Amino acid sequence: MDREAEPPASEPLKFAPNDTARLDWKKELQNNITTIDELINKIEITPAEELILREVVDAHPMNIPQYYLDLIDQDDPNDPIRKMCIPSREELVVAGAMGETTKDPYGDDKHDKGNGILHKYGYTALVVSTEYCAMYCRHCFRKRMVGLENDKTVENFREAAKYIAAHEEITNVVVSGGDPFMLPTDVIARMLEPLRDIPHLNYVRIGSRAPVVFPVRFLDDELIELLEDFNRDKTLYVPTHFNHPNELTPEATEALARLRSAGISVNNQAVLLRDVNDDVETLTDLMNGLIRIGVNPYYLYQCMPVSRVRHHFQVPLKTGVDLVDKARQQLDGYAKRFKYIIGHDIGKIEICGRIDDKLILKQIHARAGEENDASRMLVHKLDDTGGWLDDLPPIELT
Ligand code: SF4
Repeated sequence: MDREAEPPASEPLKFAPNDTARLDWKKELQNNITTIDELINKIEITPAEELILREVVDAHPMNIPQYYLDLIDQDDPNDPIRKMCIPSREELVVAGAMGETTKDPYGDDKHDKGNGILHKYGYTALVVSTEYCAMYCRHCFRKRMVGLENDKTVENFREAAKYIAAHEEITNVVVSGGDPFMLPTDVIARMLEPLRDIPHLNYVRIGSRAPVVFPVRFLDDELIELLEDFNRDKTLYVPTHFNHPNELTPEATEALARLRSAGISVNNQAVLLRDVNDDVETLTDLMNGLIRIGVNPYYLYQCMPVSRVRHHFQVPLKTGVDLVDKARQQLDGYAKRFKYIIGHDIGKIEICGRIDDKLILKQIHARAGEENDASRMLVHKLDDTGGWLDDLPPIELT
């Protein structure tokens, strides 16, 4: 069912006001589906498929909130929600037909300063707060770390804040993960506190997909009060990650309303995913639906060449650029503000459009020390299959 057909607010919330068990986010998290044995009780899966999925979750764990699982249309084997949360045999393909893959497409490791700090762009520091997410999205670009033991997360937030305070070029901090809102509220408070008084910080972002996959987290008054209080001293933004209009439910709308009531702006960073949102109608419904609930469409990412992801999720750039152009023709000014982006090792690159087989790009962020590259225009030769900048030869403009 396309939830755009009806205004979300007209549907009742699944979290009934007297359902105290489901309103307690920590208890609700315990209802997550994390094993194939639990999954086969909820979703129809053939015995042959079951065997394969056991192998898949050994490589990349599964974690699905009951709320998100309930959004699946069980009668539709191609349901887009299903593709984002249920493991697939395609994940066994490490490289795949679409070309080379990597575990670290954004080059995080090169900019790892220790203690969970990634410092790629001079003006932005990213703090990896946890490896845990309410849901482990099958298309995640940090698939190599989410839900897995790793040494990339912050151990001492006061020390992280000292690093940020010592680097006056940093204008903003992204608290990321994993999903920072899966940490207890008092831990989030301890993480934010030392950032309050750093004078050169203009704002702080907390990146989270919880409004989409686990909206009950935002019914926690203590959390909303904490965010509202912090936002008075230091402007807070929440980048989130809606990919499909079916995710724009009454519950997600309520989570957004609560964040907005705390004075927080929410920006959306979607990913273009094959068989999920790679058609004009879905993209336009998504962007219009976001605007309707007060979320700013900010980025539409080209799916990165991630091992176990690219093979089945990436859309060729030629298809992507045409889709985005057609969607933009139907969208009003606010709904079409998003940039179609390649999050590349060298920096962020906006895909502006194409002239015949020439892909027109503009770099908008460059790695620290390579700032001269930011704002440069690039032209690459398109073909029918290339899905990443490196697949397309550059064209020198004379
Ligand atoms: S919530 Fe974000 S970090 Fe976590 S698995 Fe999904 S895409 Fe990855």
